[in-house]
Amino acid sequence: MKVTREMIQERERAFLAPYAVKSSESRGRKIREEEDDTRTAFQRDRDRIVHSTAFRRLQYKTQVFVYDEGDHYRTRLTHTLETSQIARSIGRALGLNEDLIEAVALAHDLGHGPFGHAGEWALQEMMAGHGGFEHNEQSVRIVEKLEERCPGIPGLNLTQETLDGLRKHHGPGKQAEPSPKCRSLEAEVVDAADEISYICHDLDDGLRSELLEDGQAQAVRLWRDACREAAARYGTPGPAPKRRLAIRVIIDKLVKGLIRQSAANLRGSRISSLGQLRENAHRWIALPAGIEKQAAQLKLFLRGELYQHNRIVRMTDKGQRFLKALFQAYLDRPSLLPPESRLRGRRDGIRRVVCDYLAGMTDRFAIDEYKRFFEPDERV
Ligand code: MG
Repeated sequence: MKVTREMIQERERAFLAPYAVKSSESRGRKIREEEDDTRTAFQRDRDRIVHSTAFRRLQYKTQVFVYDEGDHYRTRLTHTLETSQIARSIGRALGLNEDLIEAVALAHDLGHGPFGHAGEWALQEMMAGHGGFEHNEQSVRIVEKLEERCPGIPGLNLTQETLDGLRKHHGPGKQAEPSPKCRSLEAEVVDAADEISYICHDLDDGLRSELLEDGQAQAVRLWRDACREAAARYGTPGPAPKRRLAIRVIIDKLVKGLIRQSAANLRGSRISSLGQLRENAHRWIALPAGIEKQAAQLKLFLRGELYQHNRIVRMTDKGQRFLKALFQAYLDRPSLLPPESRLRGRRDGIRRVVCDYLAGMTDRFAIDEYKRFFEPDERV
């Protein structure tokens, strides 16, 4: 038996929710391409993203911990995979298009530079007054312009729906806004999953690294309840299994709460098509109010206790200094850039090209490059 694209599209029409995005109704790509035999347009988007250079680089980009702090902490790549898993679970339960969700989730952090948020601040500072820098916009820039996949076709030539999902991704920490007209529930699910995954894994990594202590975290309702529940279900294991079990309990609570509340919101809305959904801008994908409050408390806790921890700040501050020094060095001597970047400089301006080049770097590459530039006995 061969499952054709048409069969998958038929299945989407039969089984997905009426307000889900159907691949057969995609607004298409900027440059028209022949349809694939066995894959839908969104499945192809996902595959292109996985095979891109920017995706591979996520492996050596910092989430919170710089990559050489240890092998067990999250990197941008594992964060991306966790986000994708959580988003697909939620989307599947809500009858949404899992392939579109996966494509948006896998690309959602491509635009992050090295050294986590500190890296973003450095690039923002260097680009102030020159068009700025914002990681969501950079993700779109990468998939639309910077990736080289096919001669004559700029970027990955993704579908409009995947691009819309990336463009409006507002990033964790910011208040979710009511869906604008071109937004899909699939994109909203990715935003929600991004938050769930990062607050849970940052708490996990924070405790594992001992930058956070269990006693401190007990002030957070989600953690306190999860520890109690894990103990009730599994007895009192040692600290490491307890942490793992409690984190699982929290992820489960957030995911199930989100599914329950969002399903109730949509059921109550009586929306029966994608068109109607777009006419009725509202935050359909949401946690129940009580759990949302608890999640906000955890976020606040992480911001105060982990992201501002002096070891994290020292690490990321150093990254910020590296990046600014490198930025200036390239700006002063554009001939230090690889030839293809210099070529693009004629079109996009040298400052933007330097910014793209630095944003594309992994932590590791940025550190090595810094050494090559500034340490006298390092080979150039
Ligand atoms: Mg993210």
